[in-house]
Amino acid sequence: MEFERWTQDATFYSPLEEFEEVTVEVEVREDPLTGRRSRVVPESFLTPEEEPDLEPVVGDSEGCFFCPDAVGEVTPKYPDWVGFDRGHVGEATSFPNLNPYGAHSNVVALTEDHFRPIGELTPEIFADGLRAAFDYVTGVFEHDDEATVASVNMNFLRPAGSSIVHPHLQTLVDDRGTNYQDRLVSAAREYRDAHDTDYWSDLLAAERDGERHVGATGDVEWVAPFAPRHHRHLTGVVPGMGVPDADDPVLVDFGAGIAAVLDGYDAAGLNSFNFALHVVDDPAVPPVLDVVARSVFDEYYWSDSPFFTVLHDEGVVDVAPETYAAETAAHL
Ligand SMILES: [Zn+2]
Repeated sequence: MEFERWTQDATFYSPLEEFEEVTVEVEVREDPLTGRRSRVVPESFLTPEEEPDLEPVVGDSEGCFFCPDAVGEVTPKYPDWVGFDRGHVGEATSFPNLNPYGAHSNVVALTEDHFRPIGELTPEIFADGLRAAFDYVTGVFEHDDEATVASVNMNFLRPAGSSIVHPHLQTLVDDRGTNYQDRLVSAAREYRDAHDTDYWSDLLAAERDGERHVGATGDVEWVAPFAPRHHRHLTGVVPGMGVPDADDPVLVDFGAGIAAVLDGYDAAGLNSFNFALHVVDDPAVPPVLDVVARSVFDEYYWSDSPFFTVLHDEGVVDVAPETYAAETAAHL
């Protein structure tokens, strides 16, 4: 396993040092699987000094379609082949996405509460939500022979792209997945063909005693990727596993891990995140969950997706994975 990194030195006369010559070091890293590069640039991710007041945005549940009074009345119902109108597991309710992103696309409203901050999203909430999501995902795989790639995703608060405050998951299942999933699947197949083993088993074997290894929640092992795709990127993986059923205990393990990662974000003063759990009907790709922190949501929050992210597909992070892996381990 190659962990390739290079440093680049930028030299200039700094107004912050009375115009003495300074040299700033930037590290460029390459992901061992996909070759995608990231830059570690200290202090490139600004956070507000004061505790954000979310109440004006999260406090008003009027008109929310995902609150208990509405979620069973006004949300779409599944087509007949799914076998139920809407799905229910614990507090979670699943239903088709009114704005689908592909052939099969649903939403899981996670909580009865209209809003919960990230520190109060519990392992049980995620476990039940993932069960509700996988009831649908595995149903699609059985129903549609062409559907081979799925993801269970979450945007949380506006910096993460969510228009709805009420915590919810979104799934997408189709015949090709996304650009990133294409890259992931191709690279994983190439790796397996070249090495006769799977990438994630080798990665964990290489990382297990190192400073980017976070720990495990049940069968899910967590690492901070060598070349993070975004701020505080953490990955949970179950090497060798296929597509889990909705009642597979591994979903409880994923739920515990997500909640622990979010506790770590909360402790670092963060309040917004995305995650994507990739599920591919291919033995080269086990379930892989990527979670990243987003800009801290407050009244005048700034985007963390500048031209680097949107137009260059370049990861730029301020904290190295070796640092936040240890911080996260304390919450696992
Ligand atoms: Zn609501």
